[in-house]
Amino acid sequence: MSKLTIKPKSYKAFTTRNIDTIPQFEALPSEIHDAIQVVSRVMPFRANNYVTDELIDWSNPEADPIFKLVFPQKGMMAVDDYDALAAKCAAGEPEAALRAAARNIQLKMNPHPAGQMELNVPKCDLGQSINGIQHKYKETVLFFPTQGQVCHAYCTYCFRWAQFVGVDDLKFACGDPQALVDYLNAHPEVTNVLFTGGDPLIMTSKILRRYVEPLLTQRPGNVRSIRFGTKVLAYWPYRFLTDKDADDVMALFDEIIAAGFHLAIMSHFSHSRELETDAVQAAISRILSTGANIRCQAPLIRHINDDPEVWRAMWEKQVSLGAIPYYMFVERDTGPKEYFSVPLAEAYQIFTEAYSKVSGLARTVRGPSMSATPGKVLVDGIAEVGGQKLLALKFIQARDPEWVNKLFFAEYDEKAVWLDGLKPAFGEQRFFFEKAGLSSLRIA
Ligand SMILES: *Cc1c(COP(=O)(O)O)cnc(C)c1O
Ligand code: SF4
Repeated sequence: MSKLTIKPKSYKAFTTRNIDTIPQFEALPSEIHDAIQVVSRVMPFRANNYVTDELIDWSNPEADPIFKLVFPQKGMMAVDDYDALAAKCAAGEPEAALRAAARNIQLKMNPHPAGQMELNVPKCDLGQSINGIQHKYKETVLFFPTQGQVCHAYCTYCFRWAQFVGVDDLKFACGDPQALVDYLNAHPEVTNVLFTGGDPLIMTSKILRRYVEPLLTQRPGNVRSIRFGTKVLAYWPYRFLTDKDADDVMALFDEIIAAGFHLAIMSHFSHSRELETDAVQAAISRILSTGANIRCQAPLIRHINDDPEVWRAMWEKQVSLGAIPYYMFVERDTGPKEYFSVPLAEAYQIFTEAYSKVSGLARTVRGPSMSATPGKVLVDGIAEVGGQKLLALKFIQARDPEWVNKLFFAEYDEKAVWLDGLKPAFGEQRFFFEKAGLSSLRIA
């Protein structure tokens, strides 16, 4: 499909402030409407007119996965917290009191998962940390550009929610492209840079160029690949088609590739429906025409995509559009985790059922994977050894490269949703990597 067949759409953002201007909201039952108003005081809410017009099926919003992907749900809050806050709202308490109550609830919700604050931020020689740069795995540096720390819509399950509600004050972001170049020059082991956020492709092409061009002209260190972690394809594909600077973004992609770099658009797709509109299909085809790759990843989320059929359809659709299935993640233990989490054993079953139904072309996907403190841990199997049921695990990324691809075992646990809920198998006191100095997984 060429971009010429796609009609431009002018962007309209929806937040708590103008929520009543969403045309489809008029027909929404008042309980759902009220719940959104209460929960969005605690969890961030943002949508746009592509999501509301082209992705959500409004005939039954309560059963709709995309509705639940962007609109806060009552079940996301503990019952007591919800009731208390709803009562304060109904009583018309002053704004300051409502805000204070919401902040108290937010602070109870583990706003800093996986030890992000303490462990990933590199310390330079002076012992200061470099904001906006994370270097956890030897070959890859994550860069968080200041202007890319929001998204075109917010996923209700987002683990960066603390930034969006201001608990985190965007501490991670960096506004200085030269800081990235200097870091890469000092770290020749780094082969690829991953721009992330938020969503770096929400930035105008002019600002995006400010960050990317120095890499093309100065060629710091040994960087060969540039990646953008983004959900723009799913939330606003017009960014690559008809937006004012869409052509310039495409030109920048061309320039990255002409300069000899590999360009990977790490695309977050949560549901097969996000791949079905004309706009997203045209955008994918236009990106691929630059020579960039599109690699797709998403977490497995209760109520949204906890169904092998959705993943099968999503992976097959990605392959047919020329994109590459990459990761299925386990939902992180932050925010409303009880509402969204899927136990590891069930995640493994869902992954396996979907994986067994697709051809090898889609089996580039890996998962289910936990991004935990010591690394990315894959749930690799459910095994029985000597009559004992076990979960087989392995690192697909690790702080210590020696751990990668090494199998280890946990006692089978039907309910565990994260690494810290698992017990090492065979009566061991700790997992092998815990002996190496990371004594606690509690912050994972
Ligand atoms: C996932 C991840 C990466 C990238 O890992 P790949 O397996 O190379 O895609 C880099 N840094 C962090 C902190 C990550 O979680
Ligand atoms: S696109 Fe990513 S960063 Fe943005 S809200 Fe969704 S999960 Fe969070």
